[in-house]
Amino acid sequence: MKKFVFATNNAHKLEEVRDILGDKIELLSLKDINCHEEIPETADTLAGNALLKARYVYDKYHLNCFADDTGLEVEALNGAPGVYSARYAGDAHNSEANMKKLLHELENMENRKAQFHTVFALIIDGKEHLFEGNVKGEITKVHKGTSGFGYDPIFQPEGYHQTFAEMGNEEKNKISHRAKATEKLCKFLKSI
Ligand code: IMP
Repeated sequence: MKKFVFATNNAHKLEEVRDILGDKIELLSLKDINCHEEIPETADTLAGNALLKARYVYDKYHLNCFADDTGLEVEALNGAPGVYSARYAGDAHNSEANMKKLLHELENMENRKAQFHTVFALIIDGKEHLFEGNVKGEITKVHKGTSGFGYDPIFQPEGYHQTFAEMGNEEKNKISHRAKATEKLCKFLKSI
């Protein structure tokens, strides 16, 4: 069975990607390979950060691996918070604070269009590959739903009347930014 490290500590992401990849590929987390250090995410693009994380693991552990970086890009804010989505309200990676700040920035704004954008960087035998996915939608005025993570309670995908957090993981995983990028990654992994 092919084995890859998914360079994340986010249990939600790991579960989402495991669901999509199925049982043909063995997926290891950072914890599984005893990588407990904070991997720097200092690039100013999603692809740059995804590559930083994947290269860190590949260079140190010599294992085929992939990493993702995701941003929420809001049209009326010229694409912010984008690559800075995790630390939008400060360094604490605090989703409640991030959502509060975003709702405040968009107060009284008509244009609430936004998209989630994911980039995966895969390194396999030293060769680098990128895969992208995005989902368009809008930022709601209030939090709705309790499933998922991050900005899910205030993101309503186009064509739906529920936020990602109201939909539940199964529905979200059919249409999400990460699902689209993961499907491309998966197709590639199955083709080699
Ligand atoms: P990262 O890719 O883990 O660095 O995520 C960047 C930011 O986007 C964090 O604040 C995450 O909580 C948020 N984020 C990433 N993926 C999702 C998602 O699927 N739903 C909601 N928020 C997300």
